Amino acid sequence: MIPIKRPVRVPLVLRTRGREATVRLCEEYDSSPEAYREGKKSFTSRDFDSGVYGARSVKNALRKAQHDKCAFCESKVSHIAYGDVEHFRPKAGYRQRPDGPLVRPGYYWLAYEWSNLFFCCPLCNQRFKRNHFPLTDDTRRAISHHDRIEVEEPLLIHPALEDPAEFLEFDGEYVRPVNGNSRGVATIGILGLNREEIAEKRRHVLGLIKDLIACRELFAIQVKDHPDQEYLKRLAAIDERLDWYEKVYRSDSAEYAAMIRTALKARTQ
Ligand SMILES: [Zn+2]
Repeated sequence: MIPIKRPVRVPLVLRTRGREATVRLCEEYDSSPEAYREGKKSFTSRDFDSGVYGARSVKNALRKAQHDKCAFCESKVSHIAYGDVEHFRPKAGYRQRPDGPLVRPGYYWLAYEWSNLFFCCPLCNQRFKRNHFPLTDDTRRAISHHDRIEVEEPLLIHPALEDPAEFLEFDGEYVRPVNGNSRGVATIGILGLNREEIAEKRRHVLGLIKDLIACRELFAIQVKDHPDQEYLKRLAAIDERLDWYEKVYRSDSAEYAAMIRTALKARTQ
């Protein structure tokens, strides 16, 4: 996971149809707030228009801002699927624990909110995160549009508001929480960030980099003892290749950039 810079300009469909739909949802809630709070009435996925939050203009703007990568696992989405527009705070209902009850309503007033949307891969969205949205303290949860989400402390890291590197780091191809922090632990668990499918892809890329760094070290020793032209030429070629990796993986558009940046640090240590 790396920081995401979302475009400041909100897509038109969210500012028009999205805003109207949000007003309707809020009015509906206000027509019988007790019934909604007590769970006698609820919003279901049928009450939300995927043609608005998942509109092509929305998806394309997110996809571009995220360099066609999943906001969470950093896989290039178009390689494997069309990709989903995901709600950071679930729109219809949420779970505090993965095996806990689905509590309704969810964050219905954020269904068309630009800052609540991400582009992500179907696995992160549909198999792992789903409705799971735990808070450090569930009693501080915003349960309607009259409450402030700013008082909540979500366990899931928000890559457009926070720097994931403060919470997550890499040990080889596996993500781990920095100093065992609870938000890192929760984020890895909620999103399945160490699932074998991604670990395998990361391992493949990492293996190439590690082998190159090891070769470079060996050639550097050889050059020191026998500074002949052949060794010097090979060392220069390896350095050139590693420079290329550095350049590519310094860019946010590279798949698994967070992990490769960590691996390349070994080059300078
Ligand atoms: Zn993903």
